[in-house]
Amino acid sequence: MPLPKAELHLHIEGSLEPELAFALAARNGVPLPYASTEELRHAYSFRDLQSFLDLYYALTAVLRTEDDFHDLADAYLRRAAAQGVRHAEIFFDPQAHTSRGVPIGTVIEGLGRALDQAEHRHGVTTRLILSFLRDQSAESALATFESARPHLHRVHGVGLDSAEVGHPPAKFREVYRLAAEAGLHRVAHAGEEGPPAYITEALDELGVERVDHGLRCLEDPALVDRLAREQVPLTVCPLSNVRLRCVDTLADHPLRRMIDAGLLVTVNSDDPAYFGGYADDNFAAVREALGLDDETLRTLAANSFTASFLDEETKAARLAEVAAYTFAD
Ligand SMILES: [Zn+2]
Repeated sequence: MPLPKAELHLHIEGSLEPELAFALAARNGVPLPYASTEELRHAYSFRDLQSFLDLYYALTAVLRTEDDFHDLADAYLRRAAAQGVRHAEIFFDPQAHTSRGVPIGTVIEGLGRALDQAEHRHGVTTRLILSFLRDQSAESALATFESARPHLHRVHGVGLDSAEVGHPPAKFREVYRLAAEAGLHRVAHAGEEGPPAYITEALDELGVERVDHGLRCLEDPALVDRLAREQVPLTVCPLSNVRLRCVDTLADHPLRRMIDAGLLVTVNSDDPAYFGGYADDNFAAVREALGLDDETLRTLAANSFTASFLDEETKAARLAEVAAYTFAD
């Protein structure tokens, strides 16, 4: 049995495996420019960020109905559960779908139905985080949030993702203010490819409770001190960082330096279908590449529950599971 853990940085669109993409394409009569799942799987070994994004957005075209979004989330939850994930906080990008004419209600209700069943079917508790595409306008984010209002009972937080550089957090101050007013949690991608100043801005201007990625905080010692002192969780995605060339190799990954600096670091899969693995694959990869011992892995797993938006009682129960876990040799 894998180490119990929470996954806090997961884009549901990035969990679309070639087999499901083909099945949904056939179901919806959407043509795919690939002859077979093998050919598509080959395309998943993209060369750079742009070829990744091209493929990523091309494949979202197969997602059309509530059932499609349900099946996507259910497939992720099944795989995650097999990797020891006991709690998942899942991002979705409504603008990637509404821009294709799919109503936001179709997206949220489909995902929500899978999440409702997740604890019973897969033993995984869940939260749903509506993410804004930061390379779209602030007005588009506001319109997206307004259109989501009838479905906010299914949404626990807001996030900010996609191409970071040139799109500082403060651009989204107003929509984050509205989200806070609606009682939602707030997180944002910052310091992945963008500068450390974006992390500070996300904290101070958007009021985020958690920073997604946050790697580049290491360039600013005062910021590291603050993140450590305030125990701001950072959701790090090691395999993603290698595939998107934020680090050259896993052996160069700063995860251990981040842990040693006293940061509340968690390990996550980001877009697992594209980046070579799910949650426990990421744990196994950093254990191997960075020589992390069992107790460090236990700390990372405990951090994932501490940093989650679970209620205190469930959090305590999961932390007890982590503490009682016995590592196999
Ligand atoms: Zn991400």
